Amino acid sequence: MLKRWYEKSLKPDYRFKDLLTIDWAEFKAKGIKLVFLDIDNTLAEHGSRQADDYAREAVSLIESFDLPICILSNALSDRITDYAKSLDVPYMAQANKPGTKKILQKIAELNLRPEQTLMVGDQIFTDIWAGKRAGCVTIMVEQRFANEAIQIRFKRKLERFLFKRYENR
Ligand SMILES: [Mg+2]
Repeated sequence: MLKRWYEKSLKPDYRFKDLLTIDWAEFKAKGIKLVFLDIDNTLAEHGSRQADDYAREAVSLIESFDLPICILSNALSDRITDYAKSLDVPYMAQANKPGTKKILQKIAELNLRPEQTLMVGDQIFTDIWAGKRAGCVTIMVEQRFANEAIQIRFKRKLERFLFKRYENR
C-alpha cells in the first residue's frame, strides 16, 4: 500500500543531477509550455536574495529553448520578490507546496493543461508531491547545498528510505 502511494504521489517522473543536465530540448519537443522552478536548493542556496552564476546560467539555458519559467517557492514574499527580480522571471511566493492552489491557478491563467507543465525541485514532500497532485510532469534534482535545517534533513532520510526500498537502480 505504501509502495502504491509512493508511486502515485511521490515518485518523480524524472531525476537529474541539476538544472544544467536536464534535457530541456526533449521536454520542449514533448510539448512542455511552462517550467515551475523551486528556489531553495534547486536554483539557489537556502535563504539567498540574489541569483548567483549557476542560477543565471540555468535560467538562460531554459529560456534558450523558449520555455517560460515560473519560480514557485514556499518562502515569504519579500525575499522571493528580490530573488526573482534578480533573474527577471515571474514568480509565486508562499506557494504552500504540496498544496496545488497556486500551481493550478497559474496553469488556468495561461490556458494550459497540467501535463504541459514541468515541476522541478529538490524535495519530494513539497515540490514533487505538489507537482504530482496538480498533474504536472515532475523532475527531481539533487540538492545544491548540503547545509540544511533539521526538519529538511529528516525528510531527506525518509526520501532515501523510499528510494532504496522502491527503486531498483
Ligand atoms: Mg527546495
